[in-house]
Amino acid sequence: MSVLEHVITWLAPPTCISCGKEGLSLCGGCADGHITPFGERCWRCNKLSGGSRTCQSCRHTGAPGRVWVTTNYESTARNLLSLYKFGQQRAASQVIAGLMSETFMRGAEGFVAKEYIVVPVPTATARIRERGFDHTDLLARDIALKLKLRNINSLRRLGQTRQLGAKREERLAQLADSFAVKNQRLVQGRNILLIDDVVTTGGTMIAATKALRAADAKSVDAAIFAKKL
Ligand SMILES: [Zn+2]
Ligand SMILES: [Zn+2]
Repeated sequence: MSVLEHVITWLAPPTCISCGKEGLSLCGGCADGHITPFGERCWRCNKLSGGSRTCQSCRHTGAPGRVWVTTNYESTARNLLSLYKFGQQRAASQVIAGLMSETFMRGAEGFVAKEYIVVPVPTATARIRERGFDHTDLLARDIALKLKLRNINSLRRLGQTRQLGAKREERLAQLADSFAVKNQRLVQGRNILLIDDVVTTGGTMIAATKALRAADAKSVDAAIFAKKL
């Protein structure tokens, strides 16, 4: 995308991807009609689970305690996310963050008092270079604003720096899904709300959770926009 195209994309008022109405990337009416709530289920295996808790059998993986998923990764949700990540319509972050915050508020009533710190699952630097922005960081900022919580970009992806030697590929593969905490002092003893846009197997989410627990976070929960089936 050229600089000019960037500017045009940025200046143009968003229109609803579903009905074309000007104003939001997905208008309220279309969101109600086309975004099917994921419901209170285990984020990993889809089993019904009260309070969106990670179910007993998925808990042993080191997963977050509770994960609030907004919807399945299909139709309108998928289009909205593509528009945001690849079509560079950054205004869509507002809508996605809004839907994620609503899901969290509905499901986490009483938990808001935990004074979560919002932490994005970091995007790989190669992807940031490709797209020109860090989509989970922006989402986390918008969610923190809506929920009036603190937002700290405290995770760092490992295995992204150039390494020498014959086993480089192997090492990179091992590190592909591992994270380190940048500032343990800010995480220690705190309740963390991890933010990610899509989840498939959950490997990334679990790796991020492990890093936060290793840094002595008090608890780790998460909010995800869409679950890939
Ligand atoms: Zn609409
Ligand atoms: Zn499960």
